[in-house]
Amino acid sequence: MKDYEDIKSIKGIGEKTAGYFNRLGVFSAEDLLSYYPRSYVQYEEPVTPDPGCCGKICSYRLFVSEDFKWKKLRNLVIGTGTVTDGNKVIRLTFFNVPYYKGKLVKGAVYIFRGKLLNENGRLKMEQPQLFTEEDYSVLKKGLWPVYRLTKGLSNKVVQKSVERCMYENGQISLFREYLPEDAIERFDLCPRKEAVAGIHFPKDKEHIQRCRRRLAFDELITFLMMIRSFSNRKIAEKSGFSMIETALPHRIIEKLPFELTDGQKNAFKDITEDLTGGYVMNRLIQGDVGSGKTIIAFLSMMLCADNGFQSAMMVPTELLAVMHFKNLKILLEDNGIDLRIALLTGQTSAKERKDILSGLSDGSIKMVIGTHALFQQKVVFKDLALVITDEQHRFGVRQRQSLSLKSRSPHILAMSATPIPRTLSIVLYRDMSLSVIKSKPSSRLEIKNCVVGTSYRNTAYKFINDEIKKGHQAYIICPLVEPSEGLENVENVTDYAEKIKDLFPKDVRIEHLHGKMKDAVKNEIMDNFSKGNIDILVSTTVIEVGIDVPNATVIMIENAERFGLAQLHQLRGRIGRGKDQSYSIFIDGSDSAKENKRLSVLNSTNDGFRIAEEDLKIRGAGDVFGIRQSGLIPFDIADIYEDHELIMSIGDYLDEILKDDPELDNEIHSGIREHTSENLHKFIDFKTI
Ligand code: ADP
Ligand code: MG
Repeated sequence: MKDYEDIKSIKGIGEKTAGYFNRLGVFSAEDLLSYYPRSYVQYEEPVTPDPGCCGKICSYRLFVSEDFKWKKLRNLVIGTGTVTDGNKVIRLTFFNVPYYKGKLVKGAVYIFRGKLLNENGRLKMEQPQLFTEEDYSVLKKGLWPVYRLTKGLSNKVVQKSVERCMYENGQISLFREYLPEDAIERFDLCPRKEAVAGIHFPKDKEHIQRCRRRLAFDELITFLMMIRSFSNRKIAEKSGFSMIETALPHRIIEKLPFELTDGQKNAFKDITEDLTGGYVMNRLIQGDVGSGKTIIAFLSMMLCADNGFQSAMMVPTELLAVMHFKNLKILLEDNGIDLRIALLTGQTSAKERKDILSGLSDGSIKMVIGTHALFQQKVVFKDLALVITDEQHRFGVRQRQSLSLKSRSPHILAMSATPIPRTLSIVLYRDMSLSVIKSKPSSRLEIKNCVVGTSYRNTAYKFINDEIKKGHQAYIICPLVEPSEGLENVENVTDYAEKIKDLFPKDVRIEHLHGKMKDAVKNEIMDNFSKGNIDILVSTTVIEVGIDVPNATVIMIENAERFGLAQLHQLRGRIGRGKDQSYSIFIDGSDSAKENKRLSVLNSTNDGFRIAEEDLKIRGAGDVFGIRQSGLIPFDIADIYEDHELIMSIGDYLDEILKDDPELDNEIHSGIREHTSENLHKFIDFKTI
């Protein structure tokens, strides 16, 4: 075990500040040093203020041309006044910074850092940072870390605490070297301590890259070791649930309102062969959003039931569970099949739950769809033959395992839309057979896309309104739930929904949805949306996975610059599910050409696999941190796309050392074993691919 040092032992961190840190998941010194910056700032030489600087954050050397005036407005203290470089005059406004009162007096000179705005030819700035000449010259010398914060905690405090923790408290020593010399050389890695220190306080941009790569290595080796420990199972294990092919699934296929695509047919053929082949199935179906994976899952469950066995499908969200359950029920009714099925989630009432539990244990319920509620100990199956995970990457390894343990080696079917390059999936899903659904249903029209700036909003609203008039529905996605300090230019669903109510005709029904709402409320809203009782759903990314409302034909995504391409693609997958032409509108709030180029990839293709590849290419080495592919593996710093090659070569390395030393008992490798076991906890309870 490592030494545990509470962050309160660091100078300047008392009970209160510690509480803020705790909110960010930082409890120990080690947590703090592993709390990596989100980005860096470079304080450049001050520039001359002119309209060309507008919109960017810059520094200016200016003197105060008049004493600032301060007034109170409700709970705000507002200070206004002008500053000048001797040529241009800039009007400044400050909020709630009473300590600037004595500073903003006529004649004083400071470096002001902020975003210059041009209002009808008049220059102004709100709440710029203010530095003395002396302070600024120190800042100019390096790159400074910018951390993700929480209310009450400033960047300065985090930075200072990290610095103290590292040097005054000497906690940098926690990061011992565990790799053998030859591995360090082979991968050209910098020492671990240097990497930790440098990621917080880098010398320059290249140094960040070097440190990042080392820390990514440390995370990836743990992760890959974990994958291995879970996939050491024999590939060809005899199954206790051997089945025979029956007519039922084919009868259902014939009655579907559509013809299965070739990819769907092949996937189901693979599954049928597995289930009837006498060995335990362990198969992953990879298919882009909207490729029609659900029906394949349902057909597999039918085959199981027809053989007299039970099957369970687990999904990551309550919303999705409810939706799948309804669809399964309709499928059974349409085909006149009389089978007992159940929905088990956190919302299930106690009485219903009791019924379901007894139905599962006596075997009378043949199919169950549920959320993590399925994992609970009390859930016992009579003969669970097939476990399906939809949106597989959303579940933790331990969760998935625990459902498998509810039966002696059930067949496993995982479904994922995560577009992972094939080479990489071989490393990540070592023991799984793979079926890829490449084609989309041919009845679909290609989604039309556009990437535009915020000035396009009104046009977009008009467009959405026209679609609504045609009887269609729309999603608008915002990154935040509610307003957040420091993120003034990031849209939130709460305010947004209110704002647009004034912009649309009165009869347009607008609702908002986010993950912090109670499950019952979420379900009701989603239900209303799918019944067509809501026209515009303003939502966070809670609708990202799985939701299927074919009548929705527009998705507008605010602050698209804040999302990874793969995630935007997932979001866009919510539309284009029916027969009507669908549209996605990506609003780029960044005003940057580089960002626009990245987003334009979404314009050029609707193919998730290609998007992942392009994403990889665009974000090469130049991009310090890239945009983390959220929703995948909970890496602090590694990234399955960016570190694609590193993952592959660590995989090779592990193959080599584990071949001769499978338990890593050899003294040379024992450091790797210890490092892995100390850090494993990070992945195990979380979602992973
Ligand atoms: P995903 O792969 O993203 O889970 P779904 O299974 O939710 O996709 O399917 C998306 C929509 O496409 C559903 O409304 C489904 O009924 C429909 N669908 C599935 N297969 C086909 C097909 N072969 N032809 C036409 N529509 C299909
Ligand atoms: Mg799905």
